[in-house]
Order: sequence, then structure tokens, then C-alpha cells
Amino acid sequence: MNPILADLPTTIFDVMSGLARDLNAINLGQGFPDDPGPEDVRRAAADAVLNGYNQYPPMMGLPELRQAIATHYGRFQGLDLDPMTEVMVTSGATEALAGALMAVIEPGDEVVLFQPMYDAYLPLVQRAGGVPKFVNLRPPAWTMAREDLERAFGSKTKAVVFNNPHNPCGVVYEREQLELLAEFCVKHDVIAICDEVWEHLVFDGRKHIPLMSLPGMRERTVKIGSAGKIFSLTGWKVGLVVAAPAVMKGLSKAHQFITFTTPPNLQIGVAHGLMKDDVYFSTMRQTFQASRDRFTAGLKEVGFTVIPSQGTYFVTIDIGELAISDDVTFAQKLVREFGVATIPVSAFYAENIYRNAVRFCFAKKDETQDRALERLHKAAPAFGLSGK
Ligand code: PMP
Ligand code: GLN
Repeated sequence: MNPILADLPTTIFDVMSGLARDLNAINLGQGFPDDPGPEDVRRAAADAVLNGYNQYPPMMGLPELRQAIATHYGRFQGLDLDPMTEVMVTSGATEALAGALMAVIEPGDEVVLFQPMYDAYLPLVQRAGGVPKFVNLRPPAWTMAREDLERAFGSKTKAVVFNNPHNPCGVVYEREQLELLAEFCVKHDVIAICDEVWEHLVFDGRKHIPLMSLPGMRERTVKIGSAGKIFSLTGWKVGLVVAAPAVMKGLSKAHQFITFTTPPNLQIGVAHGLMKDDVYFSTMRQTFQASRDRFTAGLKEVGFTVIPSQGTYFVTIDIGELAISDDVTFAQKLVREFGVATIPVSAFYAENIYRNAVRFCFAKKDETQDRALERLHKAAPAFGLSGK
């Protein structure tokens, strides 16, 4: 077996969800909402299963979905996209990431990765023959520093993988930081693979800015979205990929031999969803923002130090001051003894350099949050907090 994959542990998301199932714990680990998602979107997909065409759809995606993606990104992010040459549908953002890395990297190419990073990036980069160059985002604001980029980018840099809004940190990067990254991409002639799956989950009036929209980036960016996140249907695995025609040509060659297509009924549902009124998107954002506020207040009441979340489904706490050695010990104790599953943020690092943060998914109904917070109050003394 190829050791890059064979030697990997099981992904933390499956480990914690498995523990939550086995221990009957409340699962605030893996990121998924506990409401069923918009009924009209699900109904459009269901109708397509029952009454539609269930054979292979076109390799690049159904034309109506590609058109809906182009229109949607024009409407919300000001991008001007040709649905026929610049848009592709994949089976989840994960396929899009794997395909993009396969398509872009040649063995020995360097790829800049920001830590903490979504756990799929590093093995996919390595399996494609890439050599990772890490940049550590600087807590507590998780900023990119110019001197760190100077160290990471060089003549061998082929690509950078950039996640905005950021999982697990919940940061929404603003124009100034994007300009800094774009400057390095242009200077070193680098392709930016932008994981923007959380693009609609931005709070407090923030606006998601796609890196692709910055000067010099239009021709060198692969923008990746995920319908699962936009419609609270995380199991759907429909990826939305956008790139200039010359880049898209390579991406499509990877896609044609990874999955080739994505279930047509789900594509119909997503096409319907992307064309929904603005009010769906703003209400969805407000609902998750209210969940964030409610859960953040609850965590603070328990006594935890909360690192504010600007977007995504996630909020992290800093456990550095607690009476516990590290995030993995915290997460294991919390799920096994108190019945709440979380994600230790060290799972998002290649090396053990930061073990002080734990991620919670707040995208849950009030009663789920309340039950979890009650358990966290009970757990507080075990971590050196006074509790209720
Ligand atoms: N990238 C990030 C940052 C994510 O958080 C996730 C999933 N939650 C993905 C990619 C994968 O998206 P998908 O389920 O569409 O494959
Ligand atoms: N993106 C989800 C999260 O961060 C998990 C996806 C997965 O389980 N692979 O929780």
C-alpha cells in the first residue's frame, strides 16, 4: 500500500462521530446542522429522482446547474463567469480539492499550506507528489504574516491552498490579507486553490470576498464551493468549481477519471436552491449567527475562553489556561466522561505545535445546545473551572 495513505490515522471527524454514536454523546464535533435543510431544495431533488432522468449526466455537470452557479456567483460575489468554459460540478468540494491538486501538481512541486488546515489537504498534496511548505497562521486572529509568506514562497512554489472562511478557526479573511496573499501568488506565478465552502456562512454583516476577484488572480485561481454547506445538506456532496478556461481544462481531465459525474437529482436540487431569493440566504446566515451568539454566550458562562467566530459552523475555545494537558486529552475526557463530542484543533496541524484549542459546532437547535451546555457545566470542575 502507498504509505502516505496507509500510515494515516482515521480522519478525526469519523473518529469523533463514531465515539459520539457509541457513547450516545451529543455530537458537536463533525460540522453538520441538526435541521433537515430547505424542503423545496430536497423536494426538487426528490422529484428529479422519481420523475427525472437518472442516467449519467454530462461530465461537467447539468447545464442548468452550471448556469445557476455562474448566475449565483455573479449575484453574490460579482464574478463574471462563462457557465460553459469556467464552471464544473464535482462530487463534493473534497473531489474538487483532490482533482485540483492532481491536475496542478507535478512531483517535487512545492505547495504552500496554512496551518491549522482542513485535514484532507496534506495527504492529498503529498499523494499528488507535492512538497508542503507550511505557514502557521498567527493566533488569536489567525493572520498571515508577510515574513512567513516570504519564507514559504519561492521558485519551486506551484500552488497554495487557501481556506476562507476558515475551518476550524472561524476567521473571515478581509481584503488586506487577501491582497497580501495575491501579491505572493502573482509574484511567484502560483495557482491558488481556494476552498471557499463556507462562503455563505459569514456573520455580523461581513461579505465574503473571493480571492479570484483580486487583481491578477482571475486566471490563476481555482474557486471551490460546496452545496452541502450552502443548503445545510452536508451529506449531499455537490462541489461547485470555478476557474478560467485554461485552468478548467486541466481540472476537467482530473474530474473525468475520478468520479466523471455527480448524481443528477442532487444537481437539480442544487440548481433550484442557488436560484432562491436573497431572503433564504440572509435568513440562513442570521439563523446560524444567532446559534453562534447563543452558544458563545453559553461557553463563556461555563468559564471557557472563547476565540470569537466570524463565520462557518464553528467556534473554538482556548484551553491553555485549563487544568488539562492538551486538546486531545480534553476532547477524549469530554466525550467519554461527560457525553459531548468536539474536535481537537491539533488534528489540523501536521506537527504537534499547537495543542491549545478545541472546536465546537454550534449549528444546532437550541435544545441540542442547551443539553450540551448543561453537560459542559457538569464537566467544568474536571478542567479546573468552578462550574455552576
Ligand atoms: N473544505 C472544508 C474547509 C470543509 O470544512 C469541508 C467540509 N466540511 C470540505 C472541504 C468538504 O466539503 P464537501 O463535503 O463538499 O466535500
Ligand atoms: N467539514 C466537516 C467539518 O469540518 C467534516 C467533513 C468530514 O467529515 N470529512 O466538521
